[in-house]
Parts: sequence; C-alpha cells; structure tokens
Amino acid sequence: MNSDIVLRVENLWKSFGSQTVLRGVSFTVRRGEVKVIIGPSGSGKSTLLRCINLLVRPDRGRIELEGIEVYPRPAMKINKIRERIGFVFQQFNLFMHLTALDNVRIGLVKVKKLPPEEATRRAVEALKMVGITEDLWHKYPAQLSGGQQQRVAIARAIAMEPSIILMDEPTSALDPELVGEVLKVIEELARRRTTMLIVTHELDFALEAADEIMVLDQGVIVERGSPEEILRNPKHERTRRFIERIA
Ligand code: ADP
Ligand code: MG
Repeated sequence: MNSDIVLRVENLWKSFGSQTVLRGVSFTVRRGEVKVIIGPSGSGKSTLLRCINLLVRPDRGRIELEGIEVYPRPAMKINKIRERIGFVFQQFNLFMHLTALDNVRIGLVKVKKLPPEEATRRAVEALKMVGITEDLWHKYPAQLSGGQQQRVAIARAIAMEPSIILMDEPTSALDPELVGEVLKVIEELARRRTTMLIVTHELDFALEAADEIMVLDQGVIVERGSPEEILRNPKHERTRRFIERIA
C-alpha cells in the first residue's frame, strides 16, 4: 500500500433503478496531484463525486481515503470522512443567512472545534488566499457576485484543510466574465499542490493545471492520460468529438 495515495476508487458501480450510471470506475489520486474528469452530460461525473463523498451510496466496489476504507465498510465515522473531503459545488451552496466570513468560519468552529479567534484567523487567511478582500467579509452571499460566492466556497473548503478537494463543475454556473477569477484561484491551489479531483469542461484550465485527465463516458473511464495526450491526441472517436464540441 502506498501512503502517497490519498484517494483510491476501485471498481465502483452505481445504478439508479434500472439505469446503471457507474460501471466499474477505478483510479487513484496521489498527494499533491490534480486530476480532472471530463465527459458528456449524463456520463456519471456528479454521481462519481457524490459517491466518493458518500452523498450517494455506491452499489459495489471499494473506496479508500488515505488508506482507510470508507466504502463498503467505513472504518471511521461518516462525519469524519466528510471533514477530510472538501466539496465545491456548481451552485456554490453557501449558507445564505451567514456572512462570507461566517460561511468560512462555521465549519472551523462547529466541526473542527477551534477557539473563535483561531477560527477567525484561519478563515481570514483562506479568504485572502482566494482574493476576497476585507470589504466583502461581512457581506451575505446575495450581496456578492457569483464569482465572489464561489471563491468564498473554495475558501470554506481549504480552511478545513481536507485531504482532498472535490469540485463539480465549479465554474459552469457563472457568467462568462466571472469564470476567469475562479479558475485563477483553482490554478493557484494547483500550484500549491493542493490535492484535487475536478470535474470541468474548461479545457485550457485542464491543460494548465491537471496532472491527468480522465474521460468518463456512459459510466466508464474510456481514456486517461496527460492533458496533452488527451486534448491533442484523443484515441477514442467519441472523446475527440466531445472535445471538439466543448473546445
Ligand atoms: P453528469 O454529472 O456526468 O452530467 P450525473 O452523474 O449527474 O451525470 O447523472 C448520470 C445519470 O444518472 C443521469 O442520467 C441522471 O439522470 C442519473 N441520476 C443522477 N442522480 C440520480 C438520482 N439521485 N436518482 C435517479 N437518477 C439519477
Ligand atoms: Mg454533473
């Protein structure tokens, strides 16, 4: 067993009713690695991330987080597992009744049980890292742009210092002019070797930031490789057409 492996997914299967959405998905993510998943709508990308976070229960296979089994027989409490897996959603999912600062602080206080000042210090540090300036700390999500909200959501994830951060199309709900500011933050996290598994259609970003791209199609990883290999020389006809469509 390699202790460098943060996430190991083995032969993961998931059906909803008669529809099989994941058909034996296997991969690993090492510490400091950034893996990007691309694939057509409905190919099972969100389901895969949700299975890893145990928001959806897989049917079969095995998931390990830092060598500890989390599925099928979790060797730690579900809350502890979720604490170690950051999640950034397409729709930000901020607490609308909390300020930007409190959105980042709340997990540090309630889950990590940090003393209030320490929580504030770490929240501020995370907000600064994603470029949210002091004038925005006490604003509510509704008073922020989509790009600012998603950067707060990213700050909330990194402040918890998880083992890995999963991102599900983090820029696809944003107005086009706001996509860049969020991608810049994620690229900076990648430069700092934050371990991440990111579903995205932003191919220029993937080329810049990913160590590996995996292509999911109808619940199967049909190819994987370096961004250059996958984006410049895809082996599968369906991958090539998909890439042409989103490029
Ligand atoms: P992607 O993120 O690649 O677009 P999803 O994982 O969201 O794909 O969905 C894959 C398929 O699984 C879709 O056909 C979707 O309708 C179905 N699906 C996803 N979640 C559920 C659910 N909770 N119940 C029933 N079907 C679902
Ligand atoms: Mg999805």
